[in-house]
Amino acid sequence: MKIALDGPSGAGKSTVAKALAKKLGIIYVDTGALYRTVGLYVKNQGVAKDDEEKVIALLPQINLGMEFINGEQIVTLNGVNVGDTIRTGEIAMYASRVSAIPEVRTFLLETQRKIARENSVVMDGRDIGTVILPDAEVKIFMFASAEARAERRYKELIAKGENCTLESVLEDIKTRDHNDSTRKTAPAVPAEDAVMLDNSSLDIDGTVNAVIEIIKSKVEL
Ligand code: C5P
Repeated sequence: MKIALDGPSGAGKSTVAKALAKKLGIIYVDTGALYRTVGLYVKNQGVAKDDEEKVIALLPQINLGMEFINGEQIVTLNGVNVGDTIRTGEIAMYASRVSAIPEVRTFLLETQRKIARENSVVMDGRDIGTVILPDAEVKIFMFASAEARAERRYKELIAKGENCTLESVLEDIKTRDHNDSTRKTAPAVPAEDAVMLDNSSLDIDGTVNAVIEIIKSKVEL
């Protein structure tokens, strides 16, 4: 079974997908981690995130690995586990910029498809239902207002000890929304056959239940 879970940053996709994967006994694939890892490499090489040519020239140096240990996704960059180094606001902005480059998207395409060929997955991203897994049995586009998403992300970052303000997080979310939805290649837009789910006023459990109802309406669980 393939479940495509798309939507903008901070809609709670990863939390919901994790809970769902556990419930259904399938693998949760976080595709944003791949773009973040490319972003991390670009940053470590001292290349500007908007220098397309240089970013493309770096791709052959990147060996990305993705494995699952006890259901936990591990991403390796040239053999080294990237761990939480990709989970910062700065790397999110690198990911957002480099993900608009078509060559970067092509570079990551097969890694994502291969996992879905070999496993039952709930795959969280931006273009899973439209580009990566157009034949997914279930496609959900999950979203919430920018303000609701900023508040959730702000709490997460503060809990992790990052130094930020609610205003800066909201600003970053709006910038990323704009980059992601207006880029030419694989913009973050719902697939025609995706079910839309607005979870602005739902908590995690409420969202997971709503997602399960959508899945049940599409496939037999
Ligand atoms: O989901 P996450 O916030 O980790 O993604 C980081 C960035 O990677 C997003 O802002 C988006 O630009 C990009 N991304 C993408 N396609 C995906 C997953 C993430 O373009 N499937």
